[in-house]
This record gives sequence, C-alpha cells and structure tokens, in this order.
Amino acid sequence: MSQVGRLGWYGKGIPVTIAAMSASQPAITDAMRSPTAQSQPAPSVSSIERMTARQALVDAIPHLIVTMGADGEVDCVNRPWRSFTGIGLMEMRGSGGWKATHPEDLSVIDATWVRARRDGYPFEVERRIRASDGSYRWHLTRVAPLQDAQETAVGWISTSTDIHHKRAYEESIRQANHELQQFAYVASHDLQEPLRMVTGYLSLLQRRCSGSLDAAANEYVGYAFDGAARMQTLIQQLLDFSRVGQGNLRITQVDSASACREALANLGAMVAQSRGAVSCGPLPMVWADRTQLVRLFQNLLHNALLYRLPDVSPTVRITAQPTLSEWIFCVHDNGIGIAAENQARIFDVFQRLHARDDYPGTGMGLAVCKKIVERHRGRLWVTSEPGQGSCFFFSLPVPTRVEA
Ligand code: ADP
Repeated sequence: MSQVGRLGWYGKGIPVTIAAMSASQPAITDAMRSPTAQSQPAPSVSSIERMTARQALVDAIPHLIVTMGADGEVDCVNRPWRSFTGIGLMEMRGSGGWKATHPEDLSVIDATWVRARRDGYPFEVERRIRASDGSYRWHLTRVAPLQDAQETAVGWISTSTDIHHKRAYEESIRQANHELQQFAYVASHDLQEPLRMVTGYLSLLQRRCSGSLDAAANEYVGYAFDGAARMQTLIQQLLDFSRVGQGNLRITQVDSASACREALANLGAMVAQSRGAVSCGPLPMVWADRTQLVRLFQNLLHNALLYRLPDVSPTVRITAQPTLSEWIFCVHDNGIGIAAENQARIFDVFQRLHARDDYPGTGMGLAVCKKIVERHRGRLWVTSEPGQGSCFFFSLPVPTRVEA
C-alpha cells in the first residue's frame, strides 16, 4: 500500500502541498505536542452536566472523535476512538491529539496543525491510525475549530472515518495501471527488433531475387513490406502512448496561447496544404506540462484539419472559457463531424472510424490526448453533428493538482 498520506485544507483556506513522508519522524513531534495538562480549577456542576451531555453525543457518533482545547490539549475522546485504539482520555493527555498516528504520517500533519491553530483554519488529512491490536488502518481525519461568537477558536474537533478499503482499492488500481503501462512499453519496445529483422530480410530477398521472382511473388513481397511498415507505425505509436503516461509531469505556469501557436507552427505544412484558416481566441495562463500541452493542441488541430469535408476549406477556432474551478478549452472545426454512437469510442486506443484509404491514421491521436488531459486531472469530450463539424473540449483544473 502507498506510504503517502494526503493533506489539504477544506472550507476556507488554501490547498497545501502534499509532502512525502519520512520514516524517521518521532512518534509525536515537538511542534504538535501541547503543554502537559496544567492543574485546572474544579469544574462547576452545570459544566459537568454539559460535559456529560457532550460525551454522550460524541459516543453516539460512529467515527473516531477527539476534541481539544484551544491549546491543543485533548479534553475528550469518544467510545469508538477508545475501542478502536485502546487509548483512553488520560493516555491522550499531554500528547497532543495525534497519538496512535503512524510515525510516517506525522511529518505531513505537523506544520499544517501548527498553521491551523495559528490561523483557526480547518484541514483534513489521510493518515494511518494504530488499532489496539497494533495494526494500522487508513482514516480520513477532519480537524475543525470550535469557535466562539467572535469566531475565535476555543477548541478543536477531529473526526476520523475509516477509508482503509478505499485506499486499498485506489492502490490496486494504481498498481494495475502501472503494470499495464510497463507491459505496453516493454512489449512495444521489444517488438521492434524482430520487426526490423523481417523488413531487413525482405529487402535482401527483393534485392537478390527480384529478377527470378514472377509478378505475383513481387506483389506478395510488396504486401509484406506494407504490412511490416504499418506494424512499425503501430508499435511506435503504442510506445509513444505508454511514454506519455510515464515519468513525472513538469508542471509550470504555461501561456496556453503560446503552446497553441507552437502546435500550429508544427502543422504549418498541413495548414497550407489544406488551405485551412485557424484562429485563436484569448487563451489563459494555466498550470500544465508545456510539452504535453503542445502535443494536446497539435493532435486536436491535426484532426480538425484532417477530417475536413471534401471541397470545403477547414476553418478551426480555439477558445477557452473559465468556470469556478477550471478552464474549458474548445477546438471547433467545420469538418465531417462524428455520429453520436461513435463519440465515446474514438478516445480509446486504436479506434478509427474510417478506412486507411479515406483518411490516414492509426487511431492513437485522441487516446494520447485523453491520457494527457487525465494526467492533468482534466476531462476530454466531444460534441458533434455529422456534416456540421465537431467541438473537442478539454478542461484544466485551476489550480491543477497532478500526479507526480
Ligand atoms: P487518428 O490518429 O487515426 O486520427 P484519433 O484517435 O485522433 O485517430 O481519432 C479517432 C477517430 O476519431 C478518427 O478515426 C476519426 O474518425 C475521428 N475524429 C477525430 N477527430 C475528428 C474530427 N475533428 N472530426 C471528425 N472526426 C474526427
């Protein structure tokens, strides 16, 4: 299972960078430790009643609950917490609220907890909590301030929900994806060598024996060459596809207008040959891997110019609209369009809607686009009418959170 906790602010506040954790953290770090309980004045009868009512309330909630005073000192734990961890209130005192957290996860929480207490902000973290039998289970812990009328944090409540199965499921998917990618890479890489041999010996055969082969045999050799060349292209595209999904993204602030211009420049010959007119609306700065963004524009523009109506010059327009949480880009063309029943499958690997003689291609272009967009945590989709053109949309979140 992945050894990385995830951390973020929720409610008001800003996102926090996710940090990898080190195994060498102490069980409770100094910054998290609150001063050992001082001797408090004896509580009044009504405050005892209030405390009893609060205890009954938190005991009834089926999540692990720990509450703390403004100083971070634990003042209440609920029954589910006690029965899961085997740790009662007295043992929690003087330790801060993070006792039983996996040591590797503490380092992620440390600085955020200090900031939360300073600024009175809520936050959430995925962390492992130790059960009474010594095993750990992943929990989503949400920590929120308890505020007085002046919105001053007079205490804190932390609720932890078991997400162990969800984490295990996510991890198994991640692992399976990784293995598939490795497989595609190795398979496509290793397939190139025998293919080179086939084409090498075919050329030899053609050079040495072309005089002694009859017309039909020469035709067969031609077909074999053709097939090998096609296979070479497919393997290269597969290799390329698996490369797009591998390695770290280099996320920076990118001027999407300049990425789009670069893509267009790479397609200069095609624009000229198709007598196409391509225009760009104002495009925003986005957080993205620039190389992959250029590639995305290039594939979409290539298709917009390629799948044109006979005798109609392609007209392509690229625009971007903001929403609350993302930018939605659109590449709009006046080409042949796509029937509704085919609009989902064109994003899959090697899916094409036309014979090679009508339009060249291998059916990988949009699969690569989809991979790029999904790595940027965006979406890719199309709206289209046959004969009326297509709009390919993709979204990029603001700010973009991406996989390492
Ligand atoms: P290829 O690399 O062969 O062009 P893609 O994955 O890019 O394959 O596209 C898959 C299929 O989607 C194409 O075969 C084509 O039928 C259809 N398609 C893609 N873009 C457009 C477009 N702008 N207009 C019409 N059809 C398109």
